[in-house]
Order: sequence, then C-alpha cells, then structure tokens
Amino acid sequence: MLGLMQQQNLLISDMIEFAEKHHGDTDIVSRRVEGDIHRSNWATIAARSRQVANALDQWKLGVGERVATLAWNGYRHLELYFGVSGSGRVLHTLNPRLHPEQIVWIANHAEDSVLCFDMTFLPIVQKIHQDCTTIKHWVALCDADKLPADSGIPGLLSYEAWMGKQANTYAWPALDENTASCMCYTSGTTGNPKAALYSHRSTLLHAYACALPDVMCLSARDSILPVVPMFHVNAWGIPYSAAMVGAKLVFPGAALDGKSVYELLEAEKVTLAAGVPTVWQMLLGHLKAGGLRFNYLKRTVIGGSACPPAMIQAFNDDYGVEVLHAWGMTELSPLGTLCTLKNKHLELPKDEQMKIRLKQGRAIFGIDFKIIDDQGKEQPNDGKAYGDLLVKGPWVIREYYKQEGASPLVDGWFPTGDVATVDPEGFMQITDRSKDVIKSGGEWISSIDVENIAMAHADVTMAACIGMAHPKWDERPVVVVVKKPGSAVTREDLLKFYEGKIAKWQIPDDVVFVEAIPLGATGKMLKTRLREQLSDYRLPA
Ligand code: AMP
Repeated sequence: MLGLMQQQNLLISDMIEFAEKHHGDTDIVSRRVEGDIHRSNWATIAARSRQVANALDQWKLGVGERVATLAWNGYRHLELYFGVSGSGRVLHTLNPRLHPEQIVWIANHAEDSVLCFDMTFLPIVQKIHQDCTTIKHWVALCDADKLPADSGIPGLLSYEAWMGKQANTYAWPALDENTASCMCYTSGTTGNPKAALYSHRSTLLHAYACALPDVMCLSARDSILPVVPMFHVNAWGIPYSAAMVGAKLVFPGAALDGKSVYELLEAEKVTLAAGVPTVWQMLLGHLKAGGLRFNYLKRTVIGGSACPPAMIQAFNDDYGVEVLHAWGMTELSPLGTLCTLKNKHLELPKDEQMKIRLKQGRAIFGIDFKIIDDQGKEQPNDGKAYGDLLVKGPWVIREYYKQEGASPLVDGWFPTGDVATVDPEGFMQITDRSKDVIKSGGEWISSIDVENIAMAHADVTMAACIGMAHPKWDERPVVVVVKKPGSAVTREDLLKFYEGKIAKWQIPDDVVFVEAIPLGATGKMLKTRLREQLSDYRLPA
C-alpha cells in the first residue's frame, strides 16, 4: 500500500521562495570588494535571483548548462546560488586560490558556458580567458560604472547591467529533484581534480541536516557569518540552511584578517561563525593582542582540517564560545559528522569533555559510517582500533562527474581516504589522511595527535607532522614547526614538551623549524609539498 501524502520534489527554488515569503525582511549583509558594507534582505535576494534566472533564459542557456563563479562570499554570489540552480542550470563554484592553469583545466573539464567573477579576480580572468574554450559569456560582479573599458575580455558585462534590466518575476521550473544543481571539484592534491555533482534533492537534504540542533543548530534568531568560502563546497551548505530557517547572513567578502572579521562579528551581532582553523588563528590573535571580547558570538563551527585543542580551549575558556568541531569533504556536500556532547557527558569534568570535543564527532542522521582494515574487515567501535573510514548517505557522491560507470564505491560505501577511530558512543576521530599515516615499527602514529601537542605550545603558530624513512623502524615522525614571531623556542624545548603527553615511542625524533608550511587552495596543509621541500633532510643519527 502506498502512502497518501503529497509528492513534491525537493528543489532549491523552494528554499529561496520560503525565505522571501516568511523572512523577507531578514538582513543579508556583505562586505563588498569595493570596501563598503552592503545591506540586502531575503526578499531582495529572491527578487534578484529571479532576475538572474530571466537573464540566463534570455541567453537561451539550457537546463544543465554550467554557470561558473569565481567569487568571494557576498550577496551577488548568493543570488547566483539560487538564480542559477533554481532555473535548472548548474552552479559551478571555481576556487580562485588554485593555480590559473588548474582553473583553466577545471573550467574546460566542466565545459562551463558562463563565468561570473568578482573584480578582485579580473587579473586571473585576463590570464585565463583565451584558454577557457567553452565559456561564451563573461560577467563581472560589479556595477555598470565599475566595469573597466579596457579589460581585454571580449563582451565583458557588468552583473548589474546584465541582470538589472530583467523582470523580477519568474516561474521557477518544476524540475525533477534529482536534477543536477551545483558542482565542486575536489582539492586534487594528487592527480587531476574530480568533480562532485550535487542534486537539488541532495542539497536540500543536506541543508535540513546542517540546521539540526545537534549539528549547527540554526534558526531565525541566528546571525551567521560563513568565513568558509562559497567557492568551495557551498560554504558547508550554510547559504541553503540559512534560507531554510530564515537566518541572517553576514558575508566577509575578501577581508578575512582578524580585525575585519572581528568588526563584522560585533557590528552585525553574529551568533554563529564557521571556518577552517587557520582563519580562526588570525581572529584569536587579533582578540588577544587588543584585549577584546565577543559580545554576541555563541558558537563557531571549525572543520576542514583538525581543530587543535588549544583553539577549542581558547574559544571556550577565554571567550565563552562553544566550538563545534566538524568533519566532511567535497564528496559529502560536505558535512559528515559534527561534535556535540550527549546528555550524559554534561556531568563529566571539563578535561573529560575536552577529550570528546576534540573528536570530529557523531554521525548526522543520513550519514552512516564504518571503519575497515586492509582486508576490508569492519573494525570495532572501541575508540582504539584504526581503520579506513567509509561513508554512505543521500548527500554522498555515487560517481564523479564524467567518470560515470567507474564507481568509486566499495560495496555501496564511499572510501573517504581518511583513517579514523570510532568510540563506543559513536564519536569518530580522524587520525590521518591514509597517505599521511606514519607507520613506525609496525604501529601507527597519528600525525594529528603529534601536531595538536605542538600547537598547544605557546610559541608555536603551526605544526605539521610527517613520517621520515628510518632503517630500523620504517618511518619515524618529525614535526615541522612555524614559531611565533620573536620566539626563541628550541628543538629541545619542544621535544621535552611532548613528555608525558604521548607514548614515548610516538614522540617525534626531530623538530624542523620553517618560515611557513605550504597550504593548499582550501587552507589545508600540503604535506606532499612539505615532503618535497624536505627531500634532503636526514633524521638525526
Ligand atoms: P575537501 O574535500 O577539500 O573538503 O577535504 C576533505 C578532507 O579534509 C577530509 O577527507 C579530511 O581529510 C579533511 N578534513 C575535513 N575536516 C576535518 C577535520 N575536522 N579534521 C581532520 N581532517 C578534516
């Protein structure tokens, strides 16, 4: 017997219609690349996303054609999120931090038809436009009078002139919910990047999940500042969840330094912010230097790479802000787990709670995970056994774009490439990327554990642990450290700092001080590059 409920496709256009109808006057605030603060609201964003849809129709862009963006977090990017996907085209967010050659490769692989870009990225576009063979239309996200006359890009239009002349009425198409809505390429540290192609259904289900109380707990009372970029994995789905709950959004644009972010957090009474650890490091540095406090911020979601305990402690103990440690990846839209305590943990002493908060968290309903050994045997959830982390769920990829038929799945599960433990309460903890695992004397050493300890030292800004070949033990850990400016900390000080915090055999053999650790386009440490840089390094005898 079939249920007798209404059948309605889950569509991105429904989210913006809802936000307009029920939260039309809720603010959308953006720091523009022009430097000023721009104020809009959900009703205006909705009207302008309909103008975008009309403008794409006028170009006769077909359903499924790719509209690429090269843009910061801001209101125009938000309008494209809804106008492009809502009208049946695929929003393709390009990462401007990639090398121009990689951007060209990705745009050609995706066969983008349109590129909308912030003026900050004009020099990149000038460099690449002749090599992007499929792009027919170029749109600069600016007012008509800001468009340079001599950009060198044929037919370049200003966004405002392009969409501004369109009607703001539009009937969103009744798409199948499995229609592709947006695409994002993986960071691609090895080989060519691969694309996750999200659907309306997966995006909407992910947005529901993201807003749940034990996930980001988003509501119409929140003012949310996503520092996490809209150009990579849809700013962790926040723009969609915010529309779904009617939250205020505050966009930082290109100004991600501690001072600029702090000013926005205070001025716009932000209650929740989200970003990768490197960004929060700058913010915490700014607060400390100026003896500042947060007057409104209550929660911060930190993910993308492991959040060091020292950062969780600083937010929590010094500033009264709850850290929600999250794990995910491009192939998961991106959210997989988020760390919030269960009721029974609330009575635990603070240091016990801290041990839990450090973990990447519990599964969100919709995502199932397990860990397996080299032979594919499922490992126990005892918090000790390590294994390759596999996931499945309605917002996990089935195949990569243009690799249809070559499924990456193993018996229906997606192998994440991460190595993790799972404790009896279901809290998952990432110990490494599988290619970064350090094997010493047949035992695994978690590079994240080694890094976290170094990061807890007052004189350390950043630390990366890598394995170095060793004649007897196969590999031994070495910690590569960026000191705080002016610090006189020595190798011996740091090695001593490890004592009592980690098993003796897990203590690194050496400390290498460097000026900077190479970061990838999504803010993650590039250990492959670091290993290349240290190719002449030899372990102490
Ligand atoms: P991306 O697809 O660029 O979002 O990168 C996903 C990868 O980032 C994951 O597979 C993890 O290796 C890493 N990652 C994301 N969040 C965390 C976290 N909270 N802790 C440790 N690693 C993380």
